[in-house]
Amino acid sequence: ETDAPVVTRFAPSPTGFLHIGGARTALFNWLYARGRGGKFLLRIEDTDRARSSDDATQAIFAGLRWLGLDWDGDAVSQASRAARHVEVAHAMLASGAAYKCFSTQEDIEAFRETARAEGRSTLFRSPWRDADPATHPDAPYAIRVKAPLDGKTVIADRVQGDVVIANDQLDDMICLRSDGSPTYMLAVVVDDHDMRITHVIRGDDHLNNTARQMLVYAAMGWDVPIYAHIPLIHGEDGKKLSKRHGALGIEEYAAMGYPAAAVRNYLTRLGWSHGDDEVFTTEQAKDWFDLKGIGKSPARLDFKKLDHISGQH
Ligand code: GLU
Repeated sequence: ETDAPVVTRFAPSPTGFLHIGGARTALFNWLYARGRGGKFLLRIEDTDRARSSDDATQAIFAGLRWLGLDWDGDAVSQASRAARHVEVAHAMLASGAAYKCFSTQEDIEAFRETARAEGRSTLFRSPWRDADPATHPDAPYAIRVKAPLDGKTVIADRVQGDVVIANDQLDDMICLRSDGSPTYMLAVVVDDHDMRITHVIRGDDHLNNTARQMLVYAAMGWDVPIYAHIPLIHGEDGKKLSKRHGALGIEEYAAMGYPAAAVRNYLTRLGWSHGDDEVFTTEQAKDWFDLKGIGKSPARLDFKKLDHISGQH
């Protein structure tokens, strides 16, 4: 553990309702911070303008409020921080950690086609990585971060243990597109750093991104946060969450008659164990919640259990 006060965040993309997976991620971050006198921040990841909407942002706020999860300060809009993201991309360019890539979409597709035909990895390798700047055309370029070509990246994860990713699986990720817009992969790192996030608790579908995001921390000489990647929630049948349940807005549980306290209690236990305790108060959850109790395999949605817990609240 670090000595710094705990700062966690929930960073949803405003593309729909607050569904059950997102609600649980928010709750875990909230419990972890609140149980340690820390801060819980909210960041709306709205860099994808076409898919983001204000209605979705409002629905996320409403869902968090219904669950009783309060955040510190104002919610931060990621899109509003674009100038800062651009600044960091240029800092990496200046230090040589990143480079200008003039490859077009057609170049990249042609590369992949050849690689496929020759049975090689289709991971794009930019010919501009080590190009002499004197050969640079006067054309739009993307800024890519140089990934190491060999060796491995180790994510010291509090839930998964050491996750080892071979560096030859990492491409030189784009942090600034050729139209000058920053990518989510860059923005998330810059924002977590600037917001002084100490613990990133998020779904394990982000693990591969994490290895690539760590390159930006290294390039900028920033400390990586403590990572805890939680397994996704599965449906009652043990398979990936169905559209129906996955898409269910958290407030629909209210409409079904479940009290917020019961849903909070139920979600706390969804993938986190604490002995035989099943029914408890939020105060107890704040005291007890830790990262050690988070299981490595996917938790199963179980409405019978939710019914049972609801009967006790
Ligand atoms: N905005 C991302 C998502 O909705 C979450 C990113 C993160 O937690 O780091 O999946």
